[in-house]
Amino acid sequence: MPQDRAHARAVAVLSAGGLAALPTETVYGLAALAASDAAVARLYAAKGRPSSNPLIVHVANLEQAAAFAATGPALALADLWPGPLTVVLELTDSAAVAPAALAGGMTVAVRIPASPFFRGVAAATGPLVAPSANRSGRVSPTTAEAVAAELADRIDLIVDAGGCPVGVESTVVDLTGAPRLLRPGAVPVEALEARLGPLATSPPAHALGPLRSPGLLASHYAPAARVRLDVAAADVRPDEAWLALGTETSAASTARTVRLSPTGDLDEAARGLYEGLRRLDATGAATIAVSPIPAFGIGLAIRDRLKRAAAPRPQDAPAACPPDGPGADHTQRQGDGSR
Ligand code: AMP
Ligand code: MG
Repeated sequence: MPQDRAHARAVAVLSAGGLAALPTETVYGLAALAASDAAVARLYAAKGRPSSNPLIVHVANLEQAAAFAATGPALALADLWPGPLTVVLELTDSAAVAPAALAGGMTVAVRIPASPFFRGVAAATGPLVAPSANRSGRVSPTTAEAVAAELADRIDLIVDAGGCPVGVESTVVDLTGAPRLLRPGAVPVEALEARLGPLATSPPAHALGPLRSPGLLASHYAPAARVRLDVAAADVRPDEAWLALGTETSAASTARTVRLSPTGDLDEAARGLYEGLRRLDATGAATIAVSPIPAFGIGLAIRDRLKRAAAPRPQDAPAACPPDGPGADHTQRQGDGSR
């Protein structure tokens, strides 16, 4: 499917209030019209996402954001956009954003994705909410196949553009007060601090309520297998699958190993992280042992996701909810794969 047809299909599906999985540079997003109460409600139902967890509103450019968010504080970071950066801002008075997308709050998370395809769609439809295209709490999808495995019977369209070049979610920074890191991500903290000065990291007391803290959910990004962190090669057990970083070998787990980056390159490791977790899950191993990941740059984002993947799971996870719309019968391949 040529890119212009994929664009036209996505715009048509979204404008009619549908749900479309679209590629972004981070992970595949499940897009819906941010202004539509009905589309946003359908999106929460399809993901089984708690209504207390607000959504990021994705726009084509700063002008589109200025229609619903007080964008002034974001200007200090504007050179990082388009890109894997999300900024929490105050909502403007006349904002046309479904209240449910904000989980009832008066702040809004805004991102301008790098993907030219995604921005082209948003330019045509208006602002789009787009959480990761997986069922709530589970591993994010970085391929169209992974989206289909999670959501095919619950959404209207999947646009296939191959693998996502970054592989972990955006960095989220709250600029409604003193700049505060809410979620480490693909834009390194070091790049933010160069522009904003030192960032606060722990959420303020008023942010511990359900409106502001969902990115801090302990268990998230979770495969079916249990996850064991910071495991040296020599300590991998014979019954475990192994998510390895460098060239180390382990006698225990040669058959069930995914090597994120033989050279220890953290960008390459981030790109393959979620696919690696999915592949190791598919081996049926009860536990995935993970090599130590360095704590700098995008390594902080990888460590954050793995920590949540390893956290105790809520008893009722994974969320189960009935299909609530027409099934996605078309997986469309984007012509030139550009994002
Ligand atoms: P995802 O679930 O991957 O779409 O990521 C959305 C992230 O943005 C979550 O960590 C949310 O908690 C966070 N987020 C969205 N809106 C807001 C907001 N208004 N204030 C604080 N965090 C937000
Ligand atoms: Mg997600």
